Amino acid sequence: MKLDLNITPVLQWFPDYHKPLLIAGPCSAESEGQMLDTAKQIAAQLPNSIFRAGIWKPRTRPNTFEGIGSIGLKWMQQVKQQTGLRTATEVATASHVEECLNHGIDILWIGARTTVNPFSVQEIAEVLRGVDIPVFVKNPIYPDLQLWAGALERINNAGITKLAAIHRGFHSFDNGPFRNSPNWQLAVDLKAACPQLPFICDPSHIAGTPELIPFIAQKALDMDMEGLMIETHCNPAVALSDAKQQVTPVQLFEILNNLHIRSALVNNTEIQSKLDELRCIINKLDKDLLELLAKRMTVSEKIGEYKRDNSITILQVSHWKTLVESCVANGKQIGLSPEFVKELYHLIHDESIRIQTEIMNKN
Ligand code: PEP
Ligand code: MN
Repeated sequence: MKLDLNITPVLQWFPDYHKPLLIAGPCSAESEGQMLDTAKQIAAQLPNSIFRAGIWKPRTRPNTFEGIGSIGLKWMQQVKQQTGLRTATEVATASHVEECLNHGIDILWIGARTTVNPFSVQEIAEVLRGVDIPVFVKNPIYPDLQLWAGALERINNAGITKLAAIHRGFHSFDNGPFRNSPNWQLAVDLKAACPQLPFICDPSHIAGTPELIPFIAQKALDMDMEGLMIETHCNPAVALSDAKQQVTPVQLFEILNNLHIRSALVNNTEIQSKLDELRCIINKLDKDLLELLAKRMTVSEKIGEYKRDNSITILQVSHWKTLVESCVANGKQIGLSPEFVKELYHLIHDESIRIQTEIMNKN
């Protein structure tokens, strides 16, 4: 995928930036007391961080807490005045943007439910034309890389160069232990398409529970992401939204203290040469793997011809099920995780079906 964005490096927006850029604060602004209590605790330990709070909340069902609304912007101003923290909130419409700009909000983000809608993103982009403010774009709810890239392009085309992507996980059929599947590969693909684009991971919305946040946060740093957004509330138990996933400021500090910050740059020649050696082995194995896959597809082609000539359907579900089961069992014996083998065989099987469909259509 090609993605040409004009990005200003984070150090130019925030001269005090050092990895990870941290965005912490409650899912929702609920009261002035809740905001100031949370913000003061965060600022005492992490004065360079960014304070987040949702003012307008996109909720799945009506008649739940849909955000405190504009009054919360005044509380954001209080947070900024009393703690010196920069402030960030989610915008979904042009009027949200205007209100935020009028109240001196420092950073805006576009939520996952808005990124899916190019009309809304364009509306936000238009009102941002000529404004100099950092904008973060969360990934869309479902795993569509083009929508994520498209939203970033729309905002960038409006002249916003202080731009970052937020990886908050994707809704999928099976989210495993997480609230939203991380699908790390999608974030890697976007980063590969635009290496200068800063990435922020939102472990709270991926994990959905505090216990899994450290694992996701560490993984994000090891994927060389620049920042973390972690929902933090002075009393998560009584939170009006996302109560189950928010952490206290004390828990937040503990999570951060236990993170290992590793470097993407290898300065040590000994480490570099060992890495090169191992990568050489991987390259050779990758070549062998591709050759084997190509051979397998040639056999699929033959099977396709045979099925066509004998009027047999491409898919025979019971055969496919037995095949996956035996591959999972074989994989397990040699130390491969069942999830990995299943996913791998879904891909291989899809390609095999595609090849066989082509052959069927030839006649
Ligand atoms: C949020 O950050 O509180 C939020 C609504 O997130 P998302 O858009 O990722 O669901
Ligand atoms: Mn939330």
